[in-house]
Amino acid sequence: MKVAVLSIGDELLTGEVTDTNASHIADRLYGCGARVFRHLTVPDDDEAIVQALVELAGASDAVIVTGGLGPTPDDYTAQAAARAAGVELELSQEALDHLAEFEKRIERPLHPANRRQALVPGGCRLIPNPLGTACGFAVKIGRAELFFLPGVPYEMERMLAETVLPELQRRLPPPWRRITLKVFGIPEAAISERLEGAIPAGAPLQLAYCVKYPEIHVILRAATADAAQLEEAAAEVRKRLSRYLFAEDDETMDQVLARLFRESGLTLALAESCTGGMIAARITALAGSSAYFLEGNVTYSNAAKSRMLRVPPELIERHGAVSEEVARAMAEGAREAAGSDLALSVTGIAGPDGGTPEKPVGTVYIALADAETCRVERCNFQGDRTRVRSITCFTALNWLRQ
Ligand code: ATP
Ligand code: MG
Repeated sequence: MKVAVLSIGDELLTGEVTDTNASHIADRLYGCGARVFRHLTVPDDDEAIVQALVELAGASDAVIVTGGLGPTPDDYTAQAAARAAGVELELSQEALDHLAEFEKRIERPLHPANRRQALVPGGCRLIPNPLGTACGFAVKIGRAELFFLPGVPYEMERMLAETVLPELQRRLPPPWRRITLKVFGIPEAAISERLEGAIPAGAPLQLAYCVKYPEIHVILRAATADAAQLEEAAAEVRKRLSRYLFAEDDETMDQVLARLFRESGLTLALAESCTGGMIAARITALAGSSAYFLEGNVTYSNAAKSRMLRVPPELIERHGAVSEEVARAMAEGAREAAGSDLALSVTGIAGPDGGTPEKPVGTVYIALADAETCRVERCNFQGDRTRVRSITCFTALNWLRQ
C-alpha cells in the first residue's frame, strides 16, 4: 500500500514550527508495516493545496493530510479538499453538534466563526476528534482514500491512532515487528563494536541506529513471520548492551524511574545547581511521583547552598562550588533536610562563562547519597549550555536507575 503525507501550513515552511506530525505519522505507519513513500509540505494556499491533493491522490492508495482545519479564514483545507474531490462544501449537522457539545463541555460559547469548521466536503465520512473542535474527515478521490486531520499534534495523534490506523491496518499485510532498545552512556561507535556479530549473517533482520540525543536507540526489525529470530537477536543485543540499556519500545527514562521508585518504596530529594530544577521537572512530569519524590532544592548561589543544604561556607571557599566536596555536602544536606532515603545533587559549569583550565565548561559533579554512603563523580561534558544542562539532567536520572 502506498501512503503519502501532506502537511499544510505557512509556519512549517518558514521554520517557525517543526513538522512533527509528518514524522509521527511516518513512525506509526512504519510500525504497522507501511512506509510513507512521499511527504509534501504546502503553504496555507487554496491553489497549492488542491494541486497537492490531486497529485498525491493520483499516486497513492492513502493520503494523510494535517493542518488547516481551524476556524479562521486562512484555514483552507476543507475547501480545497472539496475542490479536489469535485464536490461542494456542506454544513454537517453532526460536525456542528460535536462543536456545540465540545464548547459546552469546556464552558466556552460557540463562536460564529466556529461554524466554518462544520463545513466539510459533501459525501465525506467524519473522523471524530475527542480533543478539539475540528472534526476530521475522509474523502475518496479516484482510488485513493484521503484522511484530513487537524494540525494540532495531540489532536492529530489521537485521531490517527483511534480511527485512521485501524482502518489502514485492515488493508495492510501482517505488520513488521520492531524492537527498540534505548541506550545511554556509550557512544554509537562503541555500541556497534559491541554488537559486531550479534546478528547472524543472512538473518532476515534489520539493525538500525537512531540518535535521539542524548539517547541512542538500537532498532531491530523483522517481518512477523520471523518474530522468533527477532526475539533471539534482541536477547543477544540486550546481553551485550547490559547496563547501558535503560528502556525498550515506548517506555521512557521517566517512566522507568517511576516504576523503579514505586517498586523499591524509596523516597528521593534533589539539590540542583546548574540544572536549575530540570531534574525535578522530569521526575514530577509523571502522575504519581508524589509517592516517592519529596522535594527539590534549586540552590544556585553559594549562599543558598549553605542556607538550604547546610553546606559549610568554608567548604565552598576551599574547594569551589563545583567540586566533589560540595556535591557530596549538597546531597547529604538535601537528604537530611528532606528526611528522604536518597538524595541526588548536581553542581557544574554549564557555560559559556565560568570555566577554568582545571574545571572547564562542562565540568559537572553528581552525587547520590543514601543512609550509608555517598557516591560522587566528576563528569566532563561537551557542548554548549543547553547541551551540558540536558546531558547533566539525563545522566542524573540514569544514576537514579542504578
Ligand atoms: P485548529 O482547529 O486548532 O485551528 P488546524 O487544523 O487549523 O487546527 P493549524 O491551525 O494548521 O491546525 O495548526 C494548529 C497548531 O498545530 C499550530 O500551533 C500549528 O503550528 C501546529 N501544527 C500544524 N501543523 C503541524 C505539523 N505538521 N507539525 C507540528 N505542528 C503542527
Ligand atoms: Mg495552519
